[in-house]
Formats: sequence, C-alpha cells, structure tokens
Amino acid sequence: MSRERRAKALEQFAEKNLDAFLVTSLHNIRYLSGFTGSNGALLLFPSGEAVLFTDPRYTLQAGQQTDCKVKIAKGPMTGIIGRFLAKRRPLKLGIEGDHMTVTRQQALNKTLPAVTEIIPFSGSIEKLRMVKDASEIAIIRKAVNANAQALENALKRWKPRMSEAEFASEIDHQNRKLGAEAPAFDTIVAAGPRAALPHAHPGLTNTGGGMILIDMGAFHDGYASDMTRMVYAGTPPAKYKKIYKAVLEAELAGIDAVRAGVTAVSVDKAVRAVLTKHGLEDKFTHSTGHGLGLEIHEPPRLGKKDKTKLVPGMAITIEPGVYIEGWGGIRIEDVVLVTERGCEVLTPLTKELRTV
Ligand code: ZN
Ligand code: ZN
Repeated sequence: MSRERRAKALEQFAEKNLDAFLVTSLHNIRYLSGFTGSNGALLLFPSGEAVLFTDPRYTLQAGQQTDCKVKIAKGPMTGIIGRFLAKRRPLKLGIEGDHMTVTRQQALNKTLPAVTEIIPFSGSIEKLRMVKDASEIAIIRKAVNANAQALENALKRWKPRMSEAEFASEIDHQNRKLGAEAPAFDTIVAAGPRAALPHAHPGLTNTGGGMILIDMGAFHDGYASDMTRMVYAGTPPAKYKKIYKAVLEAELAGIDAVRAGVTAVSVDKAVRAVLTKHGLEDKFTHSTGHGLGLEIHEPPRLGKKDKTKLVPGMAITIEPGVYIEGWGGIRIEDVVLVTERGCEVLTPLTKELRTV
C-alpha cells in the first residue's frame, strides 16, 4: 500500500527532475511509509528507494511498521539527512514548503553541496490524501460509528446538573472505552447562549436547561471522526424548533449537492441558499465542511473559494450552523463519503430534534 502511494507521490514530481524529495510532515510520513512515530523524516528517490530517518526510541517500531530502509539518527536529524544526501550529490531536492522550518532548511543547506537547488512544494502529498483508498474508508467508517456510539453512551449518563466540562469528559471517556486513541480535537460542549460560539471550550456552565451543542471526534487507527449534534434539555421553544429545522434543511441540501465532479464551493452555495431563504445567511459564519482523514481538517475546504472537484473516495463533513449572540447556536454535522452519483452519509445517528 505504502509503496503504491510513494509511486503516486513521485509521479507528481516527474517533470521537475528531482533527485530526491524530503517529506517532513509526520502525517505525510505515516501515509507514505506506515511509520507512526513522533519524530522522523522520509526521503523518496525517483528509483523507488525510500529511506526513513528516526531516532533510537523508534528502532524497533520503525522496523515493524515500514517497508522503507530505516536509518537511526543519534544526533540532530537534519545534519544526518544532509550528509546522507550529500554523498549522492543531488542537484534538485524537493521539500515540503508547508512543513519545513527555516532552522531545518538552514541546517540542510550547510550539509548539502552548494550546487543543490532546494525546491519547496505546497500541498502535494495532501492532494493525494484527499481521495481515500478502501482500507482508509474502512477505518473512517469504524471511527465514525464508534464516535456516534460514544455520544449515545454519554447521553445515557447525562444528568441535569452536569457542567459542559463534565459532559465533555464523559464523551471522551466513552470514546476511549470504544477504542479511540485520542480525541480528534478538544470536544465541544456548549450550553445555552454559549452555543453561539462555534468553537466554545467546555467550562463550568450547567447543561441542565436549554440547548446543548456537542461537536466531537476521535482518532481510530490514526483516522479522525467528526460529528455535531444538538440536544435540548427540557422543552424546546418555537424559535429553537424553527432554527433547528432551517439548519437541518441546509445540511440536507448540502448532502444532496455532493457528488463526483461538482466543486467544493458549489456544495457550500447549496447550503447557503437554504439559509438565505430563511434569512439566516449572515448567521452562518464558517465554511460548510472539510475533508478529514489522518488530520481532522484536510483539503478540500467546502467554503466560498475552493474550486476542487469532488472525487469518489473523498471523506468530507457537511456542517452548517447558525449562531445568534445572546441566544445560542445550532450546528449539525455529518461525515459523508463522495460517490459517483452522490454520497453515502457515514454518520449513523438520527437528526430528528432531540431532547433530554
Ligand atoms: Zn468538522
Ligand atoms: Zn466537528
């Protein structure tokens, strides 16, 4: 699997006549080599040779996880990579412009022959990662299902006196019990008017009366899930019901607009058209969704600008929200898988208005 991915990565650089490409993003290293350690760098050569550099903590792990050659660096890694490369007298070295620090590049410059041209690339591996293969889809499916189950389990333990923070940690606990490695982001539980903050940090506010916005996700085998659901503690008033219905209509319109060949921006437009109809467009202050995979936020971005065409195998979120200062906010978020003719909604939970 990793070998095929590396071949695809190199295809992108074929015209540039690179002598080597240095991967420094840990997510991209994992994608291309299977190695999951917290320190590493990966050198790809047009011949197909691939060399993973890491430190002595990972000698055993790297040997088990990757089919690449492994070099253990017992000192500063950049110097060792530089010296390894220098022996091959490269003329053109590609680097990940988004992930290489100035310090590391300066260290490389010192070790490489003066003739070496260093060419930064942006988003090359991330572009490959947008379209998931069958093994990745299977893991994402598992992660999304477990995340939904974790919410159900946490809701059974919810009590009217629970604070946002308590309920958020109950959610994290339930996700862990279902095999999650870690939360995919800080779990959001926002009660009442605090739900107007799209990325609220759970605090000591009580969740016992009114709306509760819950945005949660967790990593399974390295892949993220992401879901937002609303629960109302008590009897929801008419305004809540009305806005909930509008957001749900917008979310369903987004899901309806997803299919292979359409642009990311067109899905965002479909969502905004519904909110405009309800006079809520200016209350929707973020983009409609994002890709997810080894990272919680990956390209494409389903916003006002991204013209990326959707391709079968992309896993994306659809998550419109309406935020009203002093009142609260409503967001509904699912993960969907792009298919030839539409999409498959992976999130298994109901979106019927829910109360506790
Ligand atoms: Zn999201
Ligand atoms: Zn989310």
